[in-house]
Amino acid sequence: MPVAAPSSALPQSRSLLTTLPGPRAQELLERQRQVVPAGVASTMPTFAVRAEGGIVEDVDGNRLIDLGSGIAVTSVGASAPRVVAGVQQQVEQFTHTCFMVTPYEGYVAVAEKLADLTPVPGPQRTALFNSGAEAVENAVKVARAYTGKQAIAAFDHAYHGRTSLTMALTAKNKPYKNGFGPFSPEIYRVAGSYPLRDGLSGAEAAARAIHQLDRQIGANNLAAVIMEPIQGEGGFIVPAPGFLAEITRWCRENDVLFIADEIQTGFARTGQWFASEFEDIQPDLITTAKGIAGGMPLSAVTGRAEIMDAALPGGLGGTYGGNPVACAAALGAIETIMEDGLLGRAREIEHVIVEHLTSVQRNDARIAEVRGRGAMVAFELINPTTGAPDAALTGAVAQAARDQGVITLTCGTDGNVIRLLPPLTISNELLREGLTVITDALAATTI
Ligand SMILES: *Cc1c(COP(=O)(O)O)cnc(C)c1O
Repeated sequence: MPVAAPSSALPQSRSLLTTLPGPRAQELLERQRQVVPAGVASTMPTFAVRAEGGIVEDVDGNRLIDLGSGIAVTSVGASAPRVVAGVQQQVEQFTHTCFMVTPYEGYVAVAEKLADLTPVPGPQRTALFNSGAEAVENAVKVARAYTGKQAIAAFDHAYHGRTSLTMALTAKNKPYKNGFGPFSPEIYRVAGSYPLRDGLSGAEAAARAIHQLDRQIGANNLAAVIMEPIQGEGGFIVPAPGFLAEITRWCRENDVLFIADEIQTGFARTGQWFASEFEDIQPDLITTAKGIAGGMPLSAVTGRAEIMDAALPGGLGGTYGGNPVACAAALGAIETIMEDGLLGRAREIEHVIVEHLTSVQRNDARIAEVRGRGAMVAFELINPTTGAPDAALTGAVAQAARDQGVITLTCGTDGNVIRLLPPLTISNELLREGLTVITDALAATTI
């Protein structure tokens, strides 16, 4: 049945007409249970029909406040006008030729934008793929081809994806790895920097990691070190100042490549184009995805030209990689970030969130820390008596906020972090309302 495009703007206010899930959502949930595996789990117990600004509307007419952006994807909004226009125009021209068969301009234009925007030094090359995990896999392939070495080091609390190779790089067992082994060989894990928990300065934490890299792997075996400049799924962990600079210095001096996984932190999310910029580091390779294309599936590996050119012709690619519709969306999203001043908007959002959360923290010792940058801020919940991570409290608060129509995500290796990833198009009013629902739920929850 043809569905008419929504003509009116979606009202930017929260509204619950039913408890969640409402009757239509319950029917869909029942259908889902019959045909979709339990392993594919959803956070919100309802089904979306429309999204715009800071609101997602569900099948029962409920309007939810979006503090998740589909996991940091729709930073420019879920139907940003420039993205919609680019996609519509491209779909009418052609949907696919395969860049490896008959190339098209959009792919090259996205690569040019990434060469301008990413903090990779010198001449750059970009290869496009479909998902974040696929980008990480290809960064590893390129690093091995260029260095002739095999070992890859990742950090505690890392998240790099769910494919076979990227599961090995990911730290957390349940639900990402449990039962899915054996894992890819020549992947090593070293300690990172988690100031709240390790109390180390950036230099001290880097010295600890470098000692492990040197003694347990050896630079002569190590192709690359991969790290998220702010760890995402692991708990929005911002490494202590100087940590990243020291790790990248060691890598450079020892002919080890440094891969910045900016899949969650990239494209204005943190208030810069890339979070690497805060620490002034220059990665050899950068992986991007999520916020790159306004909701369309696209990912990229951008790296120094001589590294990226180490793979033989035909060694990189894929049927759909850099799909023309996704490229058109990316060009629309990048233009939106530039024209609408979304780097500055992300910093304003940081201000609103941090101000709200720190004022609550002053009277609630269960909030151990408020941390993050831009529109990527989280708070970590503990038992103030023991200092232990409180996953039960975190889950209960997130659930209570969801029941009241606020899309709320958690993260952290110990499941005790509530993370905020609003679209950059959300109004301050909606953002404050969403935050208030969450912190009121915290105040009302005793476990
Ligand atoms: C989400 C994420 C990935 C994986 O991306 P997918 O598109 O889900 O495969 C990899 N790295 C980081 C840092 C991520 O946040």
